[in-house]
Amino acid sequence: GLKHIQAIAPYVGGRPISEVAREYGLDESKIIKLASNENPLGMPQSAHDAMLKAASDLGRYPDSNGFELKNVLSKRLGIPTNWITLGNGSNDILELTARAVADTDDEIIFSKHAFAVYPLATQAVGARAIEVAATPYYGHDLEAMLKAIQTSGAKAKLVFVANPNNPTGSYLSAQEIEAFLEKVPANVIVVLDEAYNEYLLPDQQYNAIDWVKRFSNLIVSRSFSKAYGLAGLRIGYGIAQPVLTDLLNRIRQPFNVNSLAQAAAIAALQDTAFLQKGYDLNRAGYLQLTDAFEEMGLTYLPSAGNFVLVKVGDEADAGAKVNLALLKRGIIVRPVANYGLPQWLRISIGLPEENAAFIDALRAILG
Ligand code: PMP
Repeated sequence: GLKHIQAIAPYVGGRPISEVAREYGLDESKIIKLASNENPLGMPQSAHDAMLKAASDLGRYPDSNGFELKNVLSKRLGIPTNWITLGNGSNDILELTARAVADTDDEIIFSKHAFAVYPLATQAVGARAIEVAATPYYGHDLEAMLKAIQTSGAKAKLVFVANPNNPTGSYLSAQEIEAFLEKVPANVIVVLDEAYNEYLLPDQQYNAIDWVKRFSNLIVSRSFSKAYGLAGLRIGYGIAQPVLTDLLNRIRQPFNVNSLAQAAAIAALQDTAFLQKGYDLNRAGYLQLTDAFEEMGLTYLPSAGNFVLVKVGDEADAGAKVNLALLKRGIIVRPVANYGLPQWLRISIGLPEENAAFIDALRAILG
């Protein structure tokens, strides 16, 4: 194998329910999983119905160009269809962008504590990862990231910015992002990762499409895995001007998004009631969790996403210890030592009763 491939630490996702049930001798139906920022409502019924209908056609290949879905998105977003790239999850968009613009020995810039796929996509193309120190509150330091681009000279090809970021939940204002985009050199591509965009509070919301129109080096990535409840189908999309979109189109797999996912996404996009219900549930769950953390005297990071990062102890391995104790009680959350946060756990916001069960378990464990 290639040296830069051998050096990659593989992605570790949330533990699957069946695996945890077997390992700890638990009843699968009683396990609560708050580990992968999934939608606690599951998939929308509308998407389920659309998917079943599309299932009768599975003998055929999917539409390679996602004609219908791109048309719906195009109308919704107010951009032509040739500004859209569909992906096998938004992870696909992140990886395609890295492959399209960075070569071995180029540099890709991202923040410390940023989403794990950024270093993975960087290493996979053999580029050098420039990890920029975070702000004191674990957010992206855009000033420092800009400096990193400038000092790297011609080698910097790509910068990943997540808003909100996973696992920290940190949020950047429209003013901060715009000022950043205005200063990034035009030959450096910016990925603005908006996987959790739909969870932003009304006063946090902004329209990144206006920036895509202004900045030819910007690609915005979005996901159907979170607010739209379609994580298992693997579908997301990128929005960029045609020159960049065309590059991604050249290197993607011809059938990277399957037919069921395309049909479900069209239905989910139109299901505003589902989106609203999930949003409201998320706000209430956020307060439920953070109120409990405050009562327990635990430090947590304010989050703009559908998850919260909480510090569960002062010992170096507090996260691992509490995680194990939660697993034994049938509750799966996400340790984040691989993000440089070994004293913290990331909790995806669940249904009220799931959040309550987690809080009870955490209380019992921490005494
Ligand atoms: N970006 C961020 C910040 C994420 O947290 C995730 C999901 N963990 C993704 C992108 C990718 O999500 P998906 O591939 O399911 O669209």
